Amino acid sequence: MSLLVIGSVAFDAIETPFGKTDKIVGGAASYISISSSFFYNSINLVAVIGDDFPKDFIIKLNQRGVDTKGLQIKEGEKSFFWSGKYHNDMNSRDTLVTELNVLGTFDPIIPDSYQNCEILMLGNLLPSVQSTVIERLTSRPKFIAMDTMNFWMDIAMEDLRKTMTMVDLLIINDEEARQLSGEYSLLKASRIIRNMGPKYLVIKKGEHGALLFHGNDLFFCPALPLEEVFDPTGAGDTFAGGFMGYLAKSGEISFRNMKKAVVYGSAMASFCVEKFGTERLLELSDEDVEERVKLFLTLSDMGFH
Ligand code: AMP
Repeated sequence: MSLLVIGSVAFDAIETPFGKTDKIVGGAASYISISSSFFYNSINLVAVIGDDFPKDFIIKLNQRGVDTKGLQIKEGEKSFFWSGKYHNDMNSRDTLVTELNVLGTFDPIIPDSYQNCEILMLGNLLPSVQSTVIERLTSRPKFIAMDTMNFWMDIAMEDLRKTMTMVDLLIINDEEARQLSGEYSLLKASRIIRNMGPKYLVIKKGEHGALLFHGNDLFFCPALPLEEVFDPTGAGDTFAGGFMGYLAKSGEISFRNMKKAVVYGSAMASFCVEKFGTERLLELSDEDVEERVKLFLTLSDMGFH
């Protein structure tokens, strides 16, 4: 069984009340694949970068067991660039710049060795590229999850609606859920969104935790209260990586198991925000992850058993 990850691999420039970065490495697929590599050892990446992207980051991905045969490097072209500025509450942000560059013309090529993947994570990028990846797989994966964002709702809603009909799980944040459904109540929004395609839905609420919906079932996992949130960029993708990595490892697709996956995803996201970019994730050990997961279990243990 393998986990196929697609999404942006990018340069980010981030501004938070704690400081400002120049271009640093980011991108949805970067966070997803690093995070999932803590749980699962067969991760294949399909993405695109320009020749301006640092090779040592690709080596770091390989060292974490991520296969990058599907990572296209476009000579003479520039990598995707995103810049964002966080508000003082660190829970909301404004996008300052989105330069698609190589992402704008991305034609995702799936290496033969990536076919027959059982789990597919469509990280944030053009919804039309996300659906193309599904169409180019010779057999449908057992489970397909996708992420998206307001940017695509604004400019590619029709493509997004099409892709949503093809997936099992959508992972988005509360603001995106409200925009997508036109409903403020997340319960009402969850029903509207699940009528658009995905049977399962995760709504992330930043420092207020995450909700998992399926049928009439609902699960909530808090976020770990932290003294300092340094940079929330990539926390959502890191959540998705932990979630999907755990699901791939366990092999069981059920609501019961996804509740555990939400805890693993939340634990990974709590690390991501402790430093700028992917820095914190790349220095973690398996023991750090285990400890953090234990902390989550005690955090919401209400002592009834
Ligand atoms: P998150 O904080 O989890 O929502 O994800 C932040 C990451 O998403 C950053 O590293 C960005 O490079 C990436 N990103 C931002 N906008 C887009 C977009 N329109 N398409 C794909 N990736 C994006």
